[in-house]
Amino acid sequence: MELPTVSLNDGNTLPVIGFGTGSLRGDDGIAAMVSALETGYRLLDSAVNYQNEHEVGEALRRSGLPREQVQVTTKIPGRFHEEELALQSVRDSAERLGLEQIDLVLIHWPNPSQGRYVEAWRALVRAQRDGLVRSIGVSNFTEQHLRRVIDETGVVPAVNQVELHPLFPQQQLRPVHEELGIVTESWSPLGKGTVPLDSPAITQPAEAHGVTPTQVVLRWHTQLGAVPLPKSANPARQRQNIDVLGFTLTDEQVAAITAMGRSDGRRFDGDPDVHEEM
Ligand code: NAP
Repeated sequence: MELPTVSLNDGNTLPVIGFGTGSLRGDDGIAAMVSALETGYRLLDSAVNYQNEHEVGEALRRSGLPREQVQVTTKIPGRFHEEELALQSVRDSAERLGLEQIDLVLIHWPNPSQGRYVEAWRALVRAQRDGLVRSIGVSNFTEQHLRRVIDETGVVPAVNQVELHPLFPQQQLRPVHEELGIVTESWSPLGKGTVPLDSPAITQPAEAHGVTPTQVVLRWHTQLGAVPLPKSANPARQRQNIDVLGFTLTDEQVAAITAMGRSDGRRFDGDPDVHEEM
């Protein structure tokens, strides 16, 4: 089954579900990614800091799929925000991936204490203009970071990839994305196993639709208009995680899952205003 797509503000599209590659490295990592591509995933989410861009490129080639059918994302790390370093980071990623053009490149974290994320954004604008990158976006940006890059460059990120799951539903940021025309991608969409899957808000729709609790959570993401990036090394779970479009949650069921969000909702890597990732 071909996945439907969401439209980006630059005219490109993304599949409604992607595949997280966070801890997938080496031969096992390649095998897990090839399996994901065979299962039907068409978006692989990587980063310089995952140290697996070579594996992502290799999985793409081993899958035998035409290049244009698969999208690859990577991210610029915090240590390369200076404009020329950021541009070089993208060129180095393309080389490690073995790709002439990268589909989507994000700034991994804003690292506001360095205060150089606008420089990294200028580098991405140039990389897109030069054809090295098709779409450009950011990750872990707050409303303030988003407005600053837009104010200073006039270019709106196509995507903001943020932590999003039932315990942390990003109630404030999602409407900002909508206003600005930015697509939300959800990292740790299953909350890295912390989401209470036995909660009635999840088990009731699972029983009603004859699906698993995890499938309910991933369907919730897509109905919020967010693109989840579930990671699984296990082929059966990979199949389950992509097979979530054959049922529809009611508005009440969506709202009940969103209401699981807690004001102290866990943030795995901390507050983007404070957390620094190099
Ligand atoms: P996740 O996808 O929420 O959870 C992954 C964990 O859930 C794995 O341990 C996996 O184990 C398990 N799992 C997957 N499907 C399952 C299922 N159907 N039933 C039960 N368990 C299941 O968390 P994540 O890996 O942290 O995040 C996903 C992706 O988001 C990453 O790979 C990365 O691409 C991206 N990410 C981005 C950032 C950022 O700063 N931009 C930060 C974190 C993550 P098995 O492998 O054994 O199935």
